Formats: sequence, C-alpha cells, structure tokens
Amino acid sequence: MRGPGGGRNPVPRRDPRSSPDQGVPQPGRPPRGRAGPPSVQDNKDYERITARGVLAVIALGAAAVIALWWYTTPDISGFGGWLTGAGEILGLLAGYGVVVLVALMARLPPLERGIGTDQLARWHAMGGRYVVCLVVAHGLLILWGYALEAHTTVVSETATLLTQYPDVLMATVAGFLLLGVGIISMRAVRRRVRYETWYYLHLYTYLAIALAFSHQFAVGQSFINNLAARFWWSAMYLTVAVLVLWYRVMVPLRAFTRHEYTVIGVKSEGPGVISVYIGGKHLDELAAEPGQFFRWRFLTRSLWWSSHPYSLSAAPGTDVLRITAKDIGDHSQALSRLRPGTRVIAEGPYGAFTAGRSGRGVLLLAGGVGITPLRAMFSTLPGPVTLIYRASSEQDIVFREELDAIAAARGATVYYLVGSRAEIGGDPLSPKMLRSLVPGLEQQEAYVCGPPGMISAAVEALRAAGVPRRQIHFESFEF
Ligand SMILES: Cc1cc2nc3c(=O)[nH]c(=O)nc-3n(C[C@H](O)[C@H](O)[C@H](O)COP(=O)(O)OP(=O)(O)OC[C@H]3O[C@@H](n4cnc5c(N)ncnc54)[C@H](O)[C@@H]3O)c2cc1C
Repeated sequence: MRGPGGGRNPVPRRDPRSSPDQGVPQPGRPPRGRAGPPSVQDNKDYERITARGVLAVIALGAAAVIALWWYTTPDISGFGGWLTGAGEILGLLAGYGVVVLVALMARLPPLERGIGTDQLARWHAMGGRYVVCLVVAHGLLILWGYALEAHTTVVSETATLLTQYPDVLMATVAGFLLLGVGIISMRAVRRRVRYETWYYLHLYTYLAIALAFSHQFAVGQSFINNLAARFWWSAMYLTVAVLVLWYRVMVPLRAFTRHEYTVIGVKSEGPGVISVYIGGKHLDELAAEPGQFFRWRFLTRSLWWSSHPYSLSAAPGTDVLRITAKDIGDHSQALSRLRPGTRVIAEGPYGAFTAGRSGRGVLLLAGGVGITPLRAMFSTLPGPVTLIYRASSEQDIVFREELDAIAAARGATVYYLVGSRAEIGGDPLSPKMLRSLVPGLEQQEAYVCGPPGMISAAVEALRAAGVPRRQIHFESFEF
C-alpha cells in the first residue's frame, strides 16, 4: 500500500491544444462546452427527477392503454369472454411495452445523460422479462378464451387462428422470436454465449416487432373500428422508430463527418493495457465530461462491424480524446494493432457517471481497469480528492506516473492497494480500512468503478462505513 501519492514526479508542461490532459492536473477546471459544472447534488437531483419523470410517463402510458381497452371493449360475457378480454389487455400492454423497451435503448440524450446507460439497460432487461411474459400470457389466454367461446378444443382453435385470422401467423412467429430473445438474455444462458452472438440475436426483437405490428389492427378489438386509436398507436411506433434511426444511426454518422474522428496513436500502458488517442475536430461541441464513455467503431476490416464502449481515460481535449483498454477479448486485443489514420465512428458521450463542484470531499475508488473514468475525473474534480486504486499486482497499475503527478499538483492523496488480502494485511475494502484511509469518509461523495464483484463489495463497505446511499455513485463495465 502506498500513499499519499503526490509530490515526487515532475509535472509535465501542457500544450492546451494537445489535450487530453496527459497527467497534468487541472483542479477545478470546468468541463469544456459548459458555463460551469453543475454541483454533484444538482446532478443527482437531475437524475432522480429524470428517472421519476420517465417512470411516471411510462406508467401513464400503461394507464392510457388500459383505458383504451376499457372504452373499446363491448360487454363481456362468460368465462371465455373474460379470458379473451384479459388476453387482449395483456396483448395491448405487450404492444406498448416493446415500444417502451426500444425507446429506453434509443440512446436519447436526456435519458442517457439524466439516467445513465447502465440504469437504462437494467430497466430494459427487467422490462424485457415482463414483456415476454405478457406476450406468452396474451397468446395462451386468447387461445383458451377463443376456444371456449367457439366451443372447440385449444388445438383446433390454434389451427383456426393460424390459418384463418389475418396476420396471426406472423404474430405467432414474432412471439416465438421474442421468447427466444428472452431466453438467450437470461443470465444463466447469456453468460455462456459470446457478447456479439447475444447482441445480434437480440436485434431480432426489431423483426419481431415488425412482424407483430399488423395483427394488432387486423384482429385487435380495440383497433378494428377505431381510426383514432390506430392513428395514435401507429404514431407511437413511428415516433420511436424515427428516434432510433436518428440517434443510433444518423447522429453517429453526422458526428463522423463533423468531427472526423481518426486514430492518431496507440500507446502501451503496461502488460495487456493500451491507450488509443483519437483525434477529431470541434470536439468541444461534444460537451463530453470526465467519467463518460463513447461507443467506438474502428473502421478496420476486422473491427468495423462492432462498436464497443470505452470510457474517456483523460479529460476530453479540444482535438484529442483518449481511451484505455485492457485486452480481455477479440475487440480489446485488436485495439493494440490500430494504425494511425484509422477512421472511427464514435457514438456519445454517454453516461451519468460524472461529477462537478461539490462542497464535499470526493473519494474515487478504482478496481483494475475501472481506473479509466476515475483517472479522467481525478485531474478535473475540484476540491479535496482521495483516490484508492485496487490492483492485483504492481504491473496491473496503469497511469501510475500520471496519477502521482496529478496528486502532487493538486495536493491529493493516492493509495495503491496492491496484492492479495494476505499481502495487504486484511480486506482492502473493509469499512475499517476505508475509514482509516479517508478521514471524514461519511461526508464524502464516493465514485466507484471496477469489476462487478469489486463494485458490490465497495458499495457495501461504503454503506457499512456510514456513507449515505445517495453519496455513492458507481459505473459498471457491464450492461
Ligand atoms: C460503460 C462502459 C465503459 C467501459 N469502459 C472501459 C474502459 O475504459 N476500458 C476497458 O478496458 N473496458 C471498458 N469497458 C469494457 C469493454 O467495453 C469490454 O471489455 C470490451 O467491450 C470487451 O470486448 P472484447 O471483444 O474485447 O471481449 P469479449 O470477450 O467479447 O467481451 C467480454 C465482456 O465485455 C462485454 N462486452 C463485449 N462487447 C461489448 C459491447 N459491444 N458492448 C458492451 N459490452 C460488451 C460483455 O460483458 C462481455 O461479456 C467498458 C464497458 C462499459 C459498459
């Protein structure tokens, strides 16, 4: 263990055009493109308000869907009628739910900035489970209800529905596609498939939505004789489709031509860790903040087809951005082979893991390559900052010189907690250890980034050490 970390290394001179800050501290410097940073509290209030607002809008939408069913459904009679009615409500909610799920992933800036990509992804995953259940229940209840009403068996009613009802066959295929996507997204299954396999299979959701759309109007009780309902329902689907196209396709392409992102260099930071410097024009317009990430698509023969998220590992400059990656798989390994001049499509900035001016001190807690966004924040956060960097070996520590230089210049403290528990002499993230390293810990804003296990342990330890939940912020490198 070592600390405080500042004071030994000379501070390199800084050319303002050659940003990002490469080890040069700029304490209190506001992020570019803004009049000044919001306070941490402002950020968190904004996140809370945005999250509550979005959930309220989703709930209102669901209430409107139930109202639509209520006003467009004639009197229900018999058990079969109730089953059919229940199946219709669930179908309507599923039709609405898929639109919400897609909207959450449409990369809408207010949601990305106000709620954060990882939170949106969690909502999307949870909502996805509900929607798949709604779809399955919708199909089963409708089948059963129709069969009872027609005084026939479920098997024969299935055949009738698939062959004689318009668009129901397509909708059934869509239902199975959604079920398949739901199954491969289950944690136990997802762990066994490659990320790319899961991702591309997941895109079949769009096909499922397209296939299922028409049966809603062709056989849906709420739409058949209701032009206004058909209009508003279509408008909802169309709006979200346009938003997806705009934010997931057009905006990145526009940014590609406007900013002309190009790799300008690759630097080894240690065993298996490299930094990629990406040059570009008008980068101040991005208003990117330390702590945020982009999705990077490097236009080489082997990498162009996939985009991967990497955080900025230095405060964004006016003409250079830096990311730092640990080679854990195909993509991260291939980054070391990037050549200067490679064009890049960058989507972002994304993420709500950002901070600003705060009356409180700040604790940055990094595990492994989770240092990247914290490194960017370390040089720009105003006020007293302590950085605790957990690594399994000395070689795994990246940016040591930069961190020491920043610490020295801003009078901050860096602790390197290196090695196994036995070597360190106890649990490095125990509440007791954290309290001993950071005086007044419970008053601090804590930012945690690292592997999922380390994040949960750190959050638990911080809570046990008396840090209120609202003062703990974390970024997971897994969606
Ligand atoms: C918000 C965020 C910021 C990140 N910042 C950094 C960083 O600064 N430095 C760093 O080294 N790593 C970072 N990562 C992790 C990095 O994205 C993955 O390590 C990388 O994509 C792995 O790809 P691979 O092909 O090398 O490995 P693989 O073996 O294919 O993937 C390993 C794991 O990485 C994740 N992953 C893979 N591809 C993607 C993808 N396209 N989108 C999302 N997750 C994916 C999956 O959880 C997968 O299980 C970040 C991840 C997120 C979500």
